[in-house]
Amino acid sequence: MLVFDPPRRGKPPRHLADLSVAERREAVAALGLPSYRADQLSRHYFGALRRRPEQMTDLPAEVRDALAEGLLPVLVDAERMLDCDGGATRKTVWKLYDGARVESVLMRYPDRTTVCVSSQAGCGMACPFCATGQAGLTRNLSTAEIVEQVVAAARDASSGALGGGSETQGPARLNNVVFMGMGEPLANYGAVLGAVRRIVDPSPAGLGLAQRHVTVSTVGLVPAMERLTGEGLQVTLAVSLHAPDDELRDTLVPVNTRWKVAEVLDAAWRYAGVTGRRVSIEYALIRAINDQADRAHALGALLRGKLTHVNLIPLNPTTGSPWTASDPRDERAFVRILRSYGVSTTVRDTRGREIDAACGQLASRATVSPNLGE
Ligand code: SAH
Repeated sequence: MLVFDPPRRGKPPRHLADLSVAERREAVAALGLPSYRADQLSRHYFGALRRRPEQMTDLPAEVRDALAEGLLPVLVDAERMLDCDGGATRKTVWKLYDGARVESVLMRYPDRTTVCVSSQAGCGMACPFCATGQAGLTRNLSTAEIVEQVVAAARDASSGALGGGSETQGPARLNNVVFMGMGEPLANYGAVLGAVRRIVDPSPAGLGLAQRHVTVSTVGLVPAMERLTGEGLQVTLAVSLHAPDDELRDTLVPVNTRWKVAEVLDAAWRYAGVTGRRVSIEYALIRAINDQADRAHALGALLRGKLTHVNLIPLNPTTGSPWTASDPRDERAFVRILRSYGVSTTVRDTRGREIDAACGQLASRATVSPNLGE
């Protein structure tokens, strides 16, 4: 069952990261403080990644406390952290103000550091191979709840907490944000767009990351893809296709019963046309389900000549699902066939499987087997 509208709940408290620069000044004025304090606070939060008021030493103590109380509520509380890949991959389970839980995954590579963030607690899209999809939708996150995951990741990276081999020790700079954690970003459009703006706005209005280094991934909500096309942004759009034909995609990505493969791809090519950005096509290779040579040919024919790149994702196992990743020979054949159509294709590395942090494994189970990362 598809769920677009989560059950109505209270809203998380207002946070600096929910507000535009003008709104921050108004909010600070409403606290009885001069509006330039808003800019100072933004420099601490977005520029220096500070959160605790006692770190903001250029502000008088009573101003700090008023600002922190009014604009920096604790929205995400790290309940647990699990590391793997020699410390280069870290999953954090965040407890939100109302007890809902989401997860984010920070990944350090020799040349870049990426965080994968959640946009909803749970997900209403019900894809049968995805752990998040099995749990259903709890609620949408607010803009600040999303931004807080990114700011925490930037802080974690810059603190030198991540390992990753001999050449990649020490502090790292967060370069990339991918909306590929829990949830369907385009089903929480307003909050996600707000978060994108905070992430790419130049510091200190926002974090100042490059637009091209932000990726929004979708099951293919066509009206929202069209809206995104009109935003004047240069972020990367990723489309979770997983099948070239409607018959199979109707079962793998149930929202396909609403928007078909052809409509989703049309919307993707319009995005590419307007933004000049290559659209990523995500395709989880599932053994004997969608990995046959004829499907590779069908996909190649659909994508030939388009501004696109295919990311094949070996299926990550999820509890209770009988499906597994493709045989490596079938995976190689799939890549070869797609490339024979001139379609740029790579296989995504599967980081974090041992800590249930890989694509599709984020479920925020309240209990995790005790041998993991303790
Ligand atoms: N709802 C958005 C964001 C999730 S992104 C979307 O679907 O695009 C996570 C990506 O991982 C999606 O492409 C999703 O289909 C894929 N995925 C989900 N479960 C997976 C699994 N078990 N193995 C590999 N990839 C999976």
